Amino acid sequence: MTRTYQTGRPIWCAGCGHFGVHGAMQNALKQAGVELHDTLVLAGIGCSGTVQNNMGAYGYHAMHGRVLPTAIGASLANPELTIIAAGGDGDGYAIGGGHLMHALKRNPNLLYVVMNNGVYGLTKGQDSPAKEVPVAAPEESPLDAMMLGLSIQSTTFLARGITTLSDQLNELMLKGLNHAREGKGMAFIEVLSPCVTYHDTYPEWMNKVYDVDADPDYDNSDRGRAFLNVFTLVQQNRIPIGMIYHGEHASLQSAILPEVTPIHALDQQHHEQTTQHMEDVLSAYAV
Ligand code: SF4
Repeated sequence: MTRTYQTGRPIWCAGCGHFGVHGAMQNALKQAGVELHDTLVLAGIGCSGTVQNNMGAYGYHAMHGRVLPTAIGASLANPELTIIAAGGDGDGYAIGGGHLMHALKRNPNLLYVVMNNGVYGLTKGQDSPAKEVPVAAPEESPLDAMMLGLSIQSTTFLARGITTLSDQLNELMLKGLNHAREGKGMAFIEVLSPCVTYHDTYPEWMNKVYDVDADPDYDNSDRGRAFLNVFTLVQQNRIPIGMIYHGEHASLQSAILPEVTPIHALDQQHHEQTTQHMEDVLSAYAV
């Protein structure tokens, strides 16, 4: 048995939605039969950013907003790893927003999980870009990350769950993990994960969610119709959850790493050439 790390004890407040996200991530790895020593979990800054301490896999605590470029670099350096990137809506949609757009464009083989609670919980509840009615600027509209993903033509897996509906969340998490592991590109899952301490949205969000998986007229393979449906639901003050879009597009890895030999299996000359090539690729695709 290969040893990895001892799991830490979660530091989240009792009732925090992040417990449910952590459970769904662990469940997906178990269901997919992925060994922890073949898994790298990277997380950003914030309460959600401590999740990798509790997984038992290899972990990396990225700089604020930089979890995606770090995860893409790791996935290119070792395509055999199962890569999960995770973070909050502040980390992913504010300081990391530019990286999110470029990652969605490039479609790398990884699972990215954003725990959306509308606030920066770690720093005591300031508005995040996803806050419905920001305290500091109530005239501003919130960012809808599913609509952002739908507007980018190379996205392949967009889903939203909520921690209170754990069966659906577990299913989405497993599907997303398999999508990335099968080389189909980036699975982006936003989880509505309420912050009970600074912005307790459990009752409000449970009243607003609309499950597109339960709607026979919703076609998650049709980007245009999905965009129109999601837009209409948002206009009606609803929050669409479920499999928002599932399509096909070449992954970043399939475009730039057509023949992959594990770097440890190369002889000295090819090892040096490959290392140089990877450095060139990483600098060309730096986000
Ligand atoms: Fe969760 Fe909010 Fe507590 Fe942070 S402050 S652990 S987001 S409930």
